[in-house]
Amino acid sequence: MNAIAVNPGRKEVGEVTLPNPPLTRDVEVKFRMLEVGICGTDREICRFDYGSPPDGFEHLVLGHEGLGEVTEVGSEVSKLKKGDLIVPMVRRPCTSPDCLPCRSGRSDFCTTGAFRERGIKEMHGFMTEHVVDEEPYLCKVPAELRDVAVLMEPLSVAEKALEQIWRVQDRLPWLTPEALAKPSGEGKTAVILGAGPIGILGAMAFKIAGFNTVVYSRSKKPNQKAEIVESFGVPYISALETDPEQLAERIGNIDVVYEAIGTAVNSFDVLRVLGMNGICVFTGIPGYPKPHLTFDAELIMRNMVLKNQVAIGTVNASRQAFDWAIRDIGEFMKRWPDAVRAIITDRHPLSNARNLLLGKATGIKDVLQIG
Ligand SMILES: [Zn+2]
Ligand SMILES: [Zn+2]
Repeated sequence: MNAIAVNPGRKEVGEVTLPNPPLTRDVEVKFRMLEVGICGTDREICRFDYGSPPDGFEHLVLGHEGLGEVTEVGSEVSKLKKGDLIVPMVRRPCTSPDCLPCRSGRSDFCTTGAFRERGIKEMHGFMTEHVVDEEPYLCKVPAELRDVAVLMEPLSVAEKALEQIWRVQDRLPWLTPEALAKPSGEGKTAVILGAGPIGILGAMAFKIAGFNTVVYSRSKKPNQKAEIVESFGVPYISALETDPEQLAERIGNIDVVYEAIGTAVNSFDVLRVLGMNGICVFTGIPGYPKPHLTFDAELIMRNMVLKNQVAIGTVNASRQAFDWAIRDIGEFMKRWPDAVRAIITDRHPLSNARNLLLGKATGIKDVLQIG
């Protein structure tokens, strides 16, 4: 069967042929890939910035944003059956007995760094025809979500960010037990930084969590991303037309900044106007090396102290975040089906993958259609 792989040793990207993988253990599930989303991570791996093949291989099969259909299950598989749609998780735990996060099902907090990630680090990804994986890492998707389920993995980033926000903001001492049990963004303002897939899906997730949400992104209106964002009732504000101070003046106290742009200078610019008791969550990974940046560190530190602020980073996602993504995308589809579908710019055959990975990114989310 065909797959799209990167060979870091030879600096090559292209099609490879692999044997069709058999089930080898009772807890395993075999699925045929239907769709795989392409993102900046894949492009960076194709520039050989990072990405490592599994043991014994020269190449790494790409792809971590997958949607598959179960074709075969092992005898100990209890929740999945042939014909089910699944979204596979990306990260797999390390094996260290001392890694409490991995031993507790939270490899997204792995302390050893010896975790593996499908399509990124030491495990083949999903840009291929058939895959075998273990049941606990496969999230069942309702059949009616098939045409947008490929967005589940990028949405899981926002879901983990929200989980972290609720947990960190538990620190606010006046919250009642009732409020802590049912966290909500009601009465709070969130700024979504960036209007790529992680930004747009984040804006949807923050909006249904109750936040007064705005998207703050570079391009001037009119543009397609702004149109999508405003179609579900979230204002889009261009950073070229409104500076961070004007943004804060316009929308009031900024309780949350959700960063989804991956560039430091713009993010720290906005951190400057984070409000009282605010929290900033970073999800993007800036490329490097870059020249040293200058930003007003004194002001940011002063604000962090005087305004009780928090800045945290979040990587990857838990099983729970994937389950929330499935729940929320169902809700998005009830409210804004056209906006969700519009995030997927185009679907392409596997044979187009190399051009998409090496060419300039143009759309919002390009998807490879495999099965
Ligand atoms: Zn991705
Ligand atoms: Zn670990």
